Amino acid sequence: MSKEPIIEFKNIKKVYGDNVAVDTANLAIEAGEFICFIGTSGSGKTTLMRMINRMLKPTEGKILFDGKDIAAMNPIHLRRQIGYVIQNIGLMPHMTIYENITLVPKLLKWPEEKKKAKAKELIELVELPESFLDRYPSELSGGQQQRIGVIRALAADQDVILMDEPFGALDPITREGIQDLVKTLQEKMGKTIVLVTHDMDEALKLASRIVVMDNGQMVQVATPDDILHHPATEFVEKMIGEERLMQAKVDITPVKSIMLKDPVAITADQTISDAITLMRHRRVDTLLVTEDNRLTGYIDLESISHQYRKNLLVSDILKEDVFRVKEDALLRDASQRILKRGLKYVPVVDNDGHLTGIVTRAALVDMMYDIIWGSQELEGGQDE
Ligand code: ADP
Ligand code: MG
Repeated sequence: MSKEPIIEFKNIKKVYGDNVAVDTANLAIEAGEFICFIGTSGSGKTTLMRMINRMLKPTEGKILFDGKDIAAMNPIHLRRQIGYVIQNIGLMPHMTIYENITLVPKLLKWPEEKKKAKAKELIELVELPESFLDRYPSELSGGQQQRIGVIRALAADQDVILMDEPFGALDPITREGIQDLVKTLQEKMGKTIVLVTHDMDEALKLASRIVVMDNGQMVQVATPDDILHHPATEFVEKMIGEERLMQAKVDITPVKSIMLKDPVAITADQTISDAITLMRHRRVDTLLVTEDNRLTGYIDLESISHQYRKNLLVSDILKEDVFRVKEDALLRDASQRILKRGLKYVPVVDNDGHLTGIVTRAALVDMMYDIIWGSQELEGGQDE
């Protein structure tokens, strides 16, 4: 981690009159990161971003680009290294796709050959035919135009790209496809992207780290996982939303926490008569089977009735392929599998394969109620 950050905010403050738009922002962005600024409208996201390429000047503090103070840099040179995508990656309707893609390279005075090679390389990258380069935007579908918009942002070979709510106007389906494309290309090309959004789904999906802005302040800077599981303030919780918080809680709960101990089990060397007695006594139609406490399979009433003979042993009718989950498995992973199989319960084992309990469908449902009821209780604030 001795890498130099590509962008570093040091005690950045931006004031308009007596309105503090950004208050003492400190942040180091590593090369190759995908940073999302998220917050409500007016929280300072755009202001923060525009200071990176000197479209705005901080009132206090400094910003380093590649270790150098940007205030001492030539702004034209700086902007050549930093791409900027404003709202809704729109294409110029009167320009061909080629002219659209090479807009910035043209401003940077690239030779024709280099521009052509770049345009070809990029259109191939998004799996569109080279012949599209001579067409006009209106001759492409909406989704194809969006893909061109994305590669235009990547065309100038800038290592850092700033994007201010670039997908805001897209319908949800197109938006998801474009988000996937941007993320894939960012990783493939090793770009550093700073993206402003007010959409938490977008931030959680794209970001390597999320910066939550509230009233000019960075209230939390963390990975999507950390934001979900350890929201720093009530404002962050609100940004995440109740539904996602609930899901996040389920995500980190281990199977062990909801399992019932003392499962109904029998050892493989016992007789079928013993099994029937136990089933009747505990009122169950299946028994888990263990040897030296290790789960080896199960038997059920159905196979007993088909094969019943005196002196038959449990091991004779044992079914070995029993679905099981580990104690430490997270419910995130286990609950899907349990519910999908339509099982009434699933045996739980420890790391040595010892049977330690079962998880029932009913327990899963109870847990969901607990979480929902728990959060409502907090909101209502009623004590009974
Ligand atoms: P966001 O992008 O998070 O919606 P902005 O960075 O655009 O927020 O704005 C942050 C704050 O700064 C807001 O209170 C806004 O009204 C104020 N602001 C932004 N630009 C200007 C400006 N040019 N003059 C005065 N106030 C501004
Ligand atoms: Mg904004």
